[in-house]
Amino acid sequence: MSESEINGIHLSETQRRAAIDLKCQIAATGSAFIQELNSPWTQTNNSTNQSQAFVTNRQALASLPREYTQYLQRGRGDNVIVDSNPNLADGILKYVEDPTLRKTVYFNSRHGVSKELLFNLEKMVGTRDQLAKVLGYNTYSEYTLSSKLIETPEKAMTFLKVTMIIFINNISSIPKILIIILYNPIQQLSNETRDLSDSELNMLYSFKCKTELTGDPVFQWDYEYYSNLIRNKSVQDLNAPTSAELSEYFSLENVLEGMSRVVHQLFGLKLKQIEMRPGESWNKDVIKLALLSRDEGIIGYIYMDLWQRPNKASLGVNYVMELGYRKRNFNLVTGDVPMMEDYNVPKVALVCSFGSKNQTNQFRSLLHHCDLEVMFHEFGHSLHTVLSRGDFQHLCGTRGPVDFVEIPSTLMEHFTWDHKILRQFANHYSSGRTLSSEMINAYKETKDIFKGIETQKLISLAMFDLILHGKHPNIKTPSEIMSILQQKNLKIAGDVGDSFLSGFSHLYFYGSSYYCYLLSKYNSEKIWKNFFGNGHKVNREKGEQYRRKFLQKGSSQTPQSILNHFTA
Ligand SMILES: [Zn+2]
Repeated sequence: MSESEINGIHLSETQRRAAIDLKCQIAATGSAFIQELNSPWTQTNNSTNQSQAFVTNRQALASLPREYTQYLQRGRGDNVIVDSNPNLADGILKYVEDPTLRKTVYFNSRHGVSKELLFNLEKMVGTRDQLAKVLGYNTYSEYTLSSKLIETPEKAMTFLKVTMIIFINNISSIPKILIIILYNPIQQLSNETRDLSDSELNMLYSFKCKTELTGDPVFQWDYEYYSNLIRNKSVQDLNAPTSAELSEYFSLENVLEGMSRVVHQLFGLKLKQIEMRPGESWNKDVIKLALLSRDEGIIGYIYMDLWQRPNKASLGVNYVMELGYRKRNFNLVTGDVPMMEDYNVPKVALVCSFGSKNQTNQFRSLLHHCDLEVMFHEFGHSLHTVLSRGDFQHLCGTRGPVDFVEIPSTLMEHFTWDHKILRQFANHYSSGRTLSSEMINAYKETKDIFKGIETQKLISLAMFDLILHGKHPNIKTPSEIMSILQQKNLKIAGDVGDSFLSGFSHLYFYGSSYYCYLLSKYNSEKIWKNFFGNGHKVNREKGEQYRRKFLQKGSSQTPQSILNHFTA
């Protein structure tokens, strides 16, 4: 179904105008919702929660690291005032032993968001529901997912084929409701991670029992504290490097070398830094790279703008500056791939906001492994953009549905954990020693120690997003919906409060599509295991297959057919 049909091109003039009007209203209330999310926290904000500051003895907070004590206010004598500053609350929940204190802070900080935020969210969701109905859908989720990878039976079948043993031979004989339940990828993923999450919860519970001697279950205000204790113990037991120690192997110079080696091994291409023309750059630190082919010359440009600065967004983003398209020599009969000489050279900007810049020489800056992951993720989007090759720019690169275009980016994250890749560039900045497989594996093991619970949290958020944009109106509040999901999926006791909404800008930007991260990770993991990981070599043969059958197609075919053709 085309984008135009989904968005009501077939409707009457009056209905089309109503749809446009509703979209404008959604944009306005959505922006107001985002503004509330980003508004600086104040003690006297118009919060839904009236309980605020309290006084406690300074000694009770002795384990709080210095970076958090700056948020404490002086009280009388040896007392300090703890208000509901979210940074201070994060520190107390992670580092303070006293469970009563953690509980108080949890309720003060997790049960207060502004009334305007809830109002705008409710208005946005309600207007989205009206839009869906004007466009002929029952719910907003149904409308927006109809253009996504997950929507069609072909896609559902593809997903099923790679995720579970097919025991249904004839789909048409199964009631529709049962198909929806069986084919729901989030539910599928949820079942798979539930066992892992349960065993992690048992670990937290036995640690808590030994410490508190009460036999109480693990509460929401216990998770950060006990998971941090267990993680620290595991770092010691495994002799794992800290994030700072690991960063000593990831100078920017090394990381760029690593990216260059990856594109060479996969595609036989070269990544080369080139001079910026006068006035071309928007900041002196921006690096310009050309992706070069021996046969075709320049294939694309990637500008890298990596460091944080005032008023710059903190997330990693791949901005498309120019897409590729055929400029001449169209041949619609043969459907051949355009030659670079007839093609507009695509340009992208890979923008991050890392805080570890070396002021003398940016190439000597040491990146944390999570920064490396962000860079490779965005680099995956960049490669999708510059390596797609079609006649029309509207069908090139990352123009496809979000649950499809996140596959190449999440695929690239796997390269940052694989020692056969890392050993080619991860050398210590002073000793030159190569990162050992033991170090990276121990680091990953400690990082993943609560992977089940963390995945269940993402699953809960994805389900919340779908429920919120499902049947409208929902008689439960956002907090009630999320609490039920978390207690069911994570089995951690206690209400979550409304404050999880304050970090959930996806509700506006990806309304009902938060699942896409999980689905993309799931799909990219399959590709990684079948092509490059699990003892497979990273070589030209598989790289070319990935380039010709996946990246090169851009969004010129349905995501389902690209994925089917590539993975077949
Ligand atoms: Zn992405």
